[in-house]
Amino acid sequence: MSSKQVFISHTQKDVEFCDKFDAVCVRVGIKVFRSEFETIVPPAWGAIKNGINNSVALFLLVGKELVKNQSEKNNEWNYTQNWISYEIGVACQLGIDVWAICDDVLINFPMPYINNYMTVSLGRPDAFTYMRRVLENYDSDRTFKYPYASPEEGNTGIYCGYDNCKMEFNLHVALSPEARIICPQCLRPLILSEGHLRLRKA
Ligand SMILES: [Zn+2]
Repeated sequence: MSSKQVFISHTQKDVEFCDKFDAVCVRVGIKVFRSEFETIVPPAWGAIKNGINNSVALFLLVGKELVKNQSEKNNEWNYTQNWISYEIGVACQLGIDVWAICDDVLINFPMPYINNYMTVSLGRPDAFTYMRRVLENYDSDRTFKYPYASPEEGNTGIYCGYDNCKMEFNLHVALSPEARIICPQCLRPLILSEGHLRLRKA
């Protein structure tokens, strides 16, 4: 078992998605600190902060149920969104990578900061294998700072082309030509081939 730990933020309602992510972690042998929105009992800020402090990266799992919670905008969502912001802030200040992984859903709430973005479901074998390599990298003290480039993936660093956004992040795993993705900060569509999304050379 690795001594490295990753911090996972998710809703326990996204059962299948979380199980998939867990399966990757088990395969790699990396430890997981789970932060489930349902089981956060205030004042939990200290436990969360410690969990992040002891982690090499934060992964926000954006599944179908999380997106549904947001669209219903119930009290539960206000609470959840508050913790998401807090966790991202702590991780950003600490300087560890922050990932958003979308399980074939379009993210529908803005994130103030992430530096790695994956919009392909881990149910896809190539995405599962990719995430396994990502975790193996963390296990070997390698990180995914922006802009990330490697011989296998080339340059993954891109930025949102809208003037009042310009969010920068690494976009992981090749998308199908018809795939729609939106910017995790301004929530506007990123069009891969037509100018809104400009590729930046590493
Ligand atoms: Zn944007």
